[in-house]
Amino acid sequence: MQHAMLEIDDLHVAYGQVEAVRGVTLGLQAGQIVTVIGPNGAGKTTLLAAAMGLLPSRGTLRFEGEDLHGLDVEARVERGLCLVPEKRELFGELTVLDNLMLGAYARRLGGAALRGRLDFVFDRFPRLGERRKQRADTLSGGERQMLALGRALMSSPRLLMLDEPSLGLAPLIVQEILTIVRGLRGEGVSILLVEQNARAALDSSDHGYVLETGEVALSGASAELAGDARVQATYLGGGSGDED
Ligand code: ATP
Repeated sequence: MQHAMLEIDDLHVAYGQVEAVRGVTLGLQAGQIVTVIGPNGAGKTTLLAAAMGLLPSRGTLRFEGEDLHGLDVEARVERGLCLVPEKRELFGELTVLDNLMLGAYARRLGGAALRGRLDFVFDRFPRLGERRKQRADTLSGGERQMLALGRALMSSPRLLMLDEPSLGLAPLIVQEILTIVRGLRGEGVSILLVEQNARAALDSSDHGYVLETGEVALSGASAELAGDARVQATYLGGGSGDED
């Protein structure tokens, strides 16, 4: 039987007594962009953190058929998983280039492989190439998000998990970043995209899940979800979804 690239079944994640993810089931096939939308505090970040191995969890968690429980973060990176956290977590005092090099560290790349990865990132984010010698803390918000993405790409992920890449960015920059993200699929990178910007996320994905208070409230093809009356009323209501 062919299994999904990522298989999450009845997953539970708790902070002490408080269960933040309560029995989530989610699947992602290789080559897909899958999004998880939902309000503040729904458990989206917690779900990604558990998949990456930053938090313990209960339930099924498999990547390419392999049980992820018992594998630490580094081992998951070696398997081809990578997370771009919401806060981006760049090293502001280091240059763009040094931040990128750190992304290759877990994969122990050197020489030609390292240069090849850098070229791959600079091809997709020419601005990072232009600013390679600049300190990361001199970059604009959009450029920082690009650097966070670029750093993740240095580890040659096959599944890239993005936590709110649109956060705090102007709509035009969000579109620019999501265009690049969609393009990665053609390079063999599948994407799990967590977003509060439901419109942009549904427009950019194949399949979507709506997470509410730790549970999947709705799921389906992204185009269908975008047309769903409940999704429209709660998550797509009125404006563009880009209040910032
Ligand atoms: P946001 O978009 O605000 O990040 P989210 O959907 O990603 O929201 P989570 O950050 O995963 O939601 O939070 C889910 C629940 O877990 C919330 O009730 C939150 O208060 C709680 N929570 C998150 N982090 C912790 C923590 N370190 N300790 C205790 N509770 C936490």
